[in-house]
Amino acid sequence: MTVINKEKCTGCRLCQKYCTVDAIHFNKEEKKCYVDQVECTECYVCLRQKVCDQDAIEPVELDSFYKQFQHVISDPVESHGVTGVTGRGTEEVKTNDVSGRVKRGEVGIAIDMGRPGLGVYLRDAEKVAMAIASSGAQLAPAEHTPLATLMTSVETGELVKECHDYHLLSVIVEAKCQEAKLKDVLLALKKVEKEIETVFSLGLILRVDEKGQTKTLECLDELGIPQPHRGKVNVGLGKPLSLT
Ligand code: SF4
Ligand code: SF4
Repeated sequence: MTVINKEKCTGCRLCQKYCTVDAIHFNKEEKKCYVDQVECTECYVCLRQKVCDQDAIEPVELDSFYKQFQHVISDPVESHGVTGVTGRGTEEVKTNDVSGRVKRGEVGIAIDMGRPGLGVYLRDAEKVAMAIASSGAQLAPAEHTPLATLMTSVETGELVKECHDYHLLSVIVEAKCQEAKLKDVLLALKKVEKEIETVFSLGLILRVDEKGQTKTLECLDELGIPQPHRGKVNVGLGKPLSLT
């Protein structure tokens, strides 16, 4: 937990400029700053950057599993205990030629939720996970992605209730589906985007044919979703899983 020691705080308000989600507020009566514990994501930017020259910003031991989860996912220099990956604890499918997670005939899905200034509450990540799971997407298991460690079932995407009100800087909802199911999944995503209080970007991971072509993106046109004009190309140097 991140707190401001009132004895040391001079009320200069400099720390407010650095907080990634505007979780540091100013108490006009006391003329001191304080950290809103519901809004704070435990990203530790304020601590790591030593933004307070009075050393008034202090860490307090993270006293629950969910607080530790919040910190590990929100702080980019921490690595996740299950996946061993830094950042948000997942490589998504950037190494698909090595991991072989997305097979031919399938589409990988990475929904990157929350951004600095806004963050994401886990209750909203649950809404998105449940919406795509019920429309035919297969959510990534706990050994691949941290969010799944909070799920009561990766079949449904439901999260344990105790975690709902924890705020993260961002989190990735990972899944895959059959190419034929992509339209249903995107329709579910378009519906649920109106029910959440944050933003997300959608990444699709495609397997192209020998000529580098795919018809999978045609459904984006049908749904009025702009075709991406940027991408990362995985050339399959990590064979042989790229062949599956
Ligand atoms: S930078 Fe330090 S002294 Fe200034 S308001 Fe923040 S905590 Fe207080
Ligand atoms: S830990 Fe992050 S979210 Fe919390 S007060 Fe510091 S900068 Fe803001």
